[in-house]
Amino acid sequence: MRALDALVREAAALGGGASSGASSVASSGAGPGLGAEAEAEADRQLQICNACRYCEGYCAVFPAMTRRLAFPAADVHYLANLCHNCGACLHACPYAPPHEFALNLPRAMARVRVRTYATYAWPPALGRLYARNGLTLALALAAGLALFIGLVLARLRAPGAALAGRGFYALLPHGLMVALFAPVFAVSVLALALGVARFWRGQAPGPVGAPALAEAVHDALRLRYLGGGHGQGCNEADDRYTLARRRLHHLTFYGFGLCFAATVVATLYHYAFGWTAPYPRSSLPVLLGTLGGLGLVAGPAGLLWLNLRRDPMQGDPAQRPMDRGFIALLLLAGASGLGLLAGRDGWAMPGWLALHLGAVMALFLTLPYGKFAHGAYRVAALLKWAVERRRPSGLRLGPE
Ligand code: SF4
Ligand code: SF4
Repeated sequence: MRALDALVREAAALGGGASSGASSVASSGAGPGLGAEAEAEADRQLQICNACRYCEGYCAVFPAMTRRLAFPAADVHYLANLCHNCGACLHACPYAPPHEFALNLPRAMARVRVRTYATYAWPPALGRLYARNGLTLALALAAGLALFIGLVLARLRAPGAALAGRGFYALLPHGLMVALFAPVFAVSVLALALGVARFWRGQAPGPVGAPALAEAVHDALRLRYLGGGHGQGCNEADDRYTLARRRLHHLTFYGFGLCFAATVVATLYHYAFGWTAPYPRSSLPVLLGTLGGLGLVAGPAGLLWLNLRRDPMQGDPAQRPMDRGFIALLLLAGASGLGLLAGRDGWAMPGWLALHLGAVMALFLTLPYGKFAHGAYRVAALLKWAVERRRPSGLRLGPE
């Protein structure tokens, strides 16, 4: 009877907002930058979900959660990055507000997730700055860089020089373009890689086998969990399921990939074959760039539309500026790239070029700190899940 009383008291404490005694958030070594409050709240909600388990078919968060009885900080970070904020568990939950348990797992996970980017990111101060002012920072950076590049172009342009048919290298030499972008790209990739490596070290998932790696890559590329576990998609504005977010993410991701492929092919043409730009409109780099640009306009425009009409209960409203900053930069990079391609022989080409280069540079500079980082941390979390699910549960409670 005393044990039952203790259980009832613990349930009441969890429902009332107390983090479980099992949580080692406070003692996890998580510094103040990790936001122990966000983690403690996620821990409280995970404890309730772990007793309920109604949502266990929706995504990988629930089966991963049921392998645990306590949620130390590293596990909260892992589960938060395994969540992709589909909203399904909020719409299904009988304990969601106005219930006194105030369960809102997508929001709790989103609040922890953003702290993982800000804290593991290198350097952390930039991560925190971007988390607070994403949209303003992204647009101001793009505008400032476009202006700077525009002024450089104006200085480089010989008075009265004709540009028609000579491409933008007539204005900005290839070597100077590489000198401007190569360091930005390298620093960006390094910062992201350092952040993900720090996250991964904290997870200690053990040896990674080829089947687990293949599964994680497959699930990430297909955006498997944006199907909602039943294949009908996520909740956006209301209780209806929709696959819109999955399709728009695909357009954005593959649009970005095609633009990257266009750059790689153009680099090969330049260095391996000595074929210099401008390339004909029917050439491989231009076709890849055009298709990629279309994806980068259609995908982010749709995602912005979804973001604006999303149920305000889903996710963390404080993160909307960061989400919108990333979407805006993708949209600007895609649209200005298409504008540059269409107007490359016209009088407005220098303006398009400055705008496009400014947007692309701002996009790369902010990649390690915002929504793009989510993709990298999420793949790491999916990989850990693919490793973990191949092992017997440490709880030894019988088959899952
Ligand atoms: S979100 Fe609600 S319904 Fe789903 S497992 Fe958690 S407590 Fe249960
Ligand atoms: S919001 Fe979606 S992905 Fe996140 S825990 Fe709930 S069901 Fe899983």
